[in-house]
Formats: sequence, C-alpha cells, structure tokens
Amino acid sequence: MSLSRPVEHKGYALTDPKKWNDLKVTDFKPKTFEADDVEIAITHCGVCGSDVHTLTQGWGESKLPLIVGHEIIGTVTRVGDKVKDFKPGDRAGVGAQRGSCMSCRACKDGLENYCPKGIETYNAVYPDGVVAQGGYSTAIRAHQRFVFPIPDEIESRDAASMMCAGLTVFSPLKTHGCGPGKKVGIVGIGGLGHYAVLWAKAMGAEVYAFTHDDSKVDDIKKMGADHVVNTGKKDFAKDYSHTLDIIVSTRDSFGDKMPLGDFLSMLYVHGRFITVGLPDADDTLPPVHPFDFAPNGCLLGGSKIGSKEDCLEMLELARSKGIKPWIEEMPMCDVGKALQNVKDNKVRYRYVLTQDLA
Ligand SMILES: [Zn+2]
Ligand SMILES: [Zn+2]
Repeated sequence: MSLSRPVEHKGYALTDPKKWNDLKVTDFKPKTFEADDVEIAITHCGVCGSDVHTLTQGWGESKLPLIVGHEIIGTVTRVGDKVKDFKPGDRAGVGAQRGSCMSCRACKDGLENYCPKGIETYNAVYPDGVVAQGGYSTAIRAHQRFVFPIPDEIESRDAASMMCAGLTVFSPLKTHGCGPGKKVGIVGIGGLGHYAVLWAKAMGAEVYAFTHDDSKVDDIKKMGADHVVNTGKKDFAKDYSHTLDIIVSTRDSFGDKMPLGDFLSMLYVHGRFITVGLPDADDTLPPVHPFDFAPNGCLLGGSKIGSKEDCLEMLELARSKGIKPWIEEMPMCDVGKALQNVKDNKVRYRYVLTQDLA
C-alpha cells in the first residue's frame, strides 16, 4: 500500500431537509479503506440534477447528514494493494457509482452500471453501515473499477461533468448505434442534452435538437446541432415523421405536457426512444397507447449512467476531438446558489465547483 499524505474528510452537507440548498461544512466517516480502493483528494465537482432531486427529497427521504455530488475530479492520494492502474499523484475521476458486487452477470459482462447491488456515489450504504458521501467534499474512496483516468489533454474543469452528465448520454448513444448515416434526436438541452449534442455530432450523426426554449437556439447551433426544433410549436413533430433512428431524452420533468406520442412518431422503423432523465418519484411518463408503437414498430427504453468501458471511450472521443463542455466554474462555498439555479433551469450548461475546503 502506498500512502502519500493523509486527507481530511469533510464536505458541504444537507443537515435539515427543509433547507435543501443551505449546506453546512461537516466532517464525515469515509468508507473503510480496502485493497481495491483508490482515494482521491477532490479538486472539482460538477452539479448534477440528481443532486437537486436528492436534496429536495424528490426521490424519497435521504440519509442525514448527506453530502451529494457525483461529477468528481481530483488527485489520487492513496491506492490499495490490488490497484495497479493508479498511483498517488495521478488525476482521476469518479461518477455516479462507486461500487458493485463484481460477481453477477452484469458485472462480468462489463455492464457493472446495471449491477443489482451497485453502490451509488452518495446516499447509499456500504455493507458495514458506512454512508456513502459524495463530491461536494475534500476526498472520496472508491473501488478502482469506478475510478477513471483523465487524459492529460483534458482539463479537470472540463472533465468533471463528463463523469455523470457526459457518460449518461454517451452510453445510450453508443449502445443504440449513433454514428455516420444515423439521424439522432436529443430532447432537452441542459447539462446532459448539451453533451448529447456534442457527442452525437462528434460520432458522425446528423443531430436534431429539441427544445422549448428559443433563447438557447444560437447556443445549440454552436454546439453542432444540424437542426433545432422548438417543441412549443403546435405540430412540431409532423415534419419529422418516420425520420429519427434514436432519440435520447434528457428531460427530468414530464408533467402533463410531455408530448411522448409526438416524439415516438418521429422515429424511423424500429427507432428507439431512450429516456435518461429521472424525474421526481410522482412525475411519471404520460400514458402511451399501443397505437403509438405500431406505425413504426418503435421501442421505448432507458439507460443508467455507463460502464468503465463506455467512460474510457467517451474520454478518448473528447481527447481526440478536443471537445469541451459549456461550463461555469464557482467555488464550492457557492454551492447553494448553483443548486438553486439548476433547480430554476438557469444554468448554461453545467456548474463545476472548485475545491475550497482543502
Ligand atoms: Zn448525475
Ligand atoms: Zn454485480
């Protein structure tokens, strides 16, 4: 085991669910250090919509105190005896998952993001009872399988939000065949959606971006979208009937206004509508009728973050094509403001917090 320097474990924690974005600096007990673990001193952490859903208790009651954040970049400080690919001083990242069983079919197939016993980066509990605390903090320990090496050419500030937002859209794009000759629709151009446009374009697809926000149109064109469609317009889907091979929807609220039938009607034969946004527990997809699937034999599905293989491929795409996300940096102490702006849809297109506790 190699140990460079001890790190303190503290972070900006939720202590009172009624004050969801008023986070207090709190010490926490890290997970027990094991032979497969990598410890990282955190330098940057992105602010994800999941953090808002968790802090506001929209996905159910959270642990308390709780430190969220799962778009983590930092410097390796310590590695366990079984870790060969990292050493102290390396730059590394952790996304929305930090552990899994390593023995089920999904884990053996390289689909560890679908392990039924996966351990999420925060608000999860390790078998020994330690609560997993996230990246609005000084340091994290994670199993080496869920630690990603960051190429030298990608700055930490740019890599941070790739760990969840970038990977969550890269994985379904890859899985469902995004590439040259394909027409790919992206619904909702926020943190995830802006990555989906960047990746789909870099993968060689023709990109159709769907937004209800006219103020984003110029940005979306600069990101590389070939077509920008306003979903607020009546009959917006008519011109694109039987057109798209894949739609990735990043919307994380549906309400009554989600025009799911219209989106399905735009798919080409056997096209796939993949939703990656996860709304609050009581905010379900609108009802669909079998009539919606018959005209094009389309499929409706989901996706959950991505595997290590997906992540390495995404980082290589970003490195080789020089892709940078559209981000705004702020010190970690301003996290309350960042969270409020994410909740109010004011972020363009991701906040990245920089370390100020260590
Ligand atoms: Zn996330
Ligand atoms: Zn497993």
